[in-house]
Amino acid sequence: MESLGVPLTEVGALTADGQTVPASHIPAGGDEIAVLGVTRPQPLPGPARFLLDVHLGTLARRLRLLGVDTAYESVDIGDAALAARSAADQRVMLSRDRGLLRRRELWAGAYVYSHRPAEQLKDVLSRFAPPLTPWSRCTACNGVLHATTKEALHDKLEHGTERSYDTFAQCTDCGQVYWRGAHHSSLNAIVEETLLEFGGQPSTAPSDT
Ligand SMILES: [Zn+2]
Repeated sequence: MESLGVPLTEVGALTADGQTVPASHIPAGGDEIAVLGVTRPQPLPGPARFLLDVHLGTLARRLRLLGVDTAYESVDIGDAALAARSAADQRVMLSRDRGLLRRRELWAGAYVYSHRPAEQLKDVLSRFAPPLTPWSRCTACNGVLHATTKEALHDKLEHGTERSYDTFAQCTDCGQVYWRGAHHSSLNAIVEETLLEFGGQPSTAPSDT
């Protein structure tokens, strides 16, 4: 399969003359081989958590916006390090690089078919069906957000922000503050559209920087 350019991450069941066989099966002469696609949603050996390569930054932010646990570094750490991290953290490696997806160390992996973030998001959500909890993660660092008050944030807010907004959240990891702000409507459109199609919890928490 891989010599034809298809990473095994994209291959579901394999059969030889109607019998299911492992990917290591060596066909005998005359065997009829069938290759099925992956099932959707695809079962994983653990929770649906992801690791994205350096080219998928927009997809990473959108997954985090929806509360999906998504690791991403904006610098290229190389295929070997990515594969090792997928294995160590038990994260699904998402990439458009077939060579990376052929690495045996990966805990799990998936080829991202589209180059457009909106289609990439739908592809990943329909393939792995991760639970969606919008506005619960920091889009900058993947940390978990906690609700807070403008009093607690007093020294971090500009005066205009403090006057205009009432609902705030803060990242437990990097301290980034989120509130209902100017970009809320465009992000909210992504969240609402996704929830309509894929389900999840209604969005109630603060949203934007
Ligand atoms: Zn953060």
